[in-house]
Formats: sequence, structure tokens, C-alpha cells
Amino acid sequence: MKLEPMKSHKTVVKVMSPAAEEQSIAPLIREVLALLGEDPRREGLVRTPERMDKALKFLTSGYRMDVHQIVNGALYEVKYDEMVVVKDIEFFSLCEHHLLPFFGKMHVAYLPKAKVIGLSKIPRIVDMFARRLQIQERLTQEVARSIQEIIDPLGVGVICEARHFCMMMRGVEKQHSGAMTSAMLGAFRARKKTRDEFLALVNYRGNGF
Ligand SMILES: [Zn+2]
Repeated sequence: MKLEPMKSHKTVVKVMSPAAEEQSIAPLIREVLALLGEDPRREGLVRTPERMDKALKFLTSGYRMDVHQIVNGALYEVKYDEMVVVKDIEFFSLCEHHLLPFFGKMHVAYLPKAKVIGLSKIPRIVDMFARRLQIQERLTQEVARSIQEIIDPLGVGVICEARHFCMMMRGVEKQHSGAMTSAMLGAFRARKKTRDEFLALVNYRGNGF
């Protein structure tokens, strides 16, 4: 099968104000440490605010990414009308209610109409939305909608399994610390057969993986 790159889409360049990126949150973290009763000048903590500044900027770097730059023309016209499934995509995100991590796996599928996307792009799209302050439900929806918009397939299905530190560490509702969410668009919403095929493929654990 020969894959012809599609005529490149216009790249949407988002101009972000540099101020937000350059301004360090380290001084604020120093204040937080003091308010927690710690001594921000002690050896173990003295560089913590700078480390946290870096870490938080990385964990929220999805705000400064653009989906069209990620896809970068890796869309191909094909005559392929079977389901494409990328499963077990690991992700790490921060819950917007507590700024604590939640992490897990996402399974993404779509039913092509005329185009497919480079497979490696799908985990990068997941990362783009995961590296923001999120709730699991919205993360799942955003990944699904974004793939629907880019590929314009017959349908998209996304299943997300995650564990939430805000529940696990704070000792509340431990029984709900593992949560599942899904987003089904187009054929995945309308046709039970398509949904069932997706679920069967996600649950299938082949040897050698
Ligand atoms: Zn939370």
C-alpha cells in the first residue's frame, strides 16, 4: 500500500505571550513551603522551588502545544475502512481540583473515511491534552474530539482508565481511585457493532505485547 502525504494543511501558529512562560513561580513556592511550616532555606529544600517551577511547566506544557503542529501533515489518503486501534497509551496528568497526578492508559480507535493519521501522532495528541490541568472526563472528550476534527473519520472511540492520587493519598473514596471514562463519536456512538468490536480489541491481550 502506497501512502501519499496529503497536501499540507496550513499550520496554525499560536502566538503565546512569553511572559507566562518566562515568569518563575519559584518565589511563590518558597512562600508555600514557609506556610506549610518548613524552612525553605534548609539544604534539601533550597532548590525545590526552582525544580517545581520546571516540573510544573513541563507538566502543563500541553497549553503551549498546537495539534496542527503535532500532526504536521502526517495525514494520508488511503482506501482502508477497517478500525484503527492504538491501545495502552500511557499518560500522566494533573487533576485540576488538587493539582495532584492522575495517570493511566488510554485506548483510541477510529474508523477511517478517507484519511488515516501516522500512528505515532496519537500518543502525542494524548500527551498534549494530558499535560494540562484536567479532569479525566474532559481529557477523554478532548482527545476524541480532536481526532474527529483532524481525521474526519466515520467515528472515534476513546476509553480511559486512570488512578487518581487525590483519592488514593487522601484516603477518601479509595474504592473509586480507579476510574474509567469513555467518549464515543459518530459510528462508535451510533452502532453497537462498532463499539463492541472496539471493546473486544481493547480487551484482547495478544501474546508478544
Ligand atoms: Zn483531584
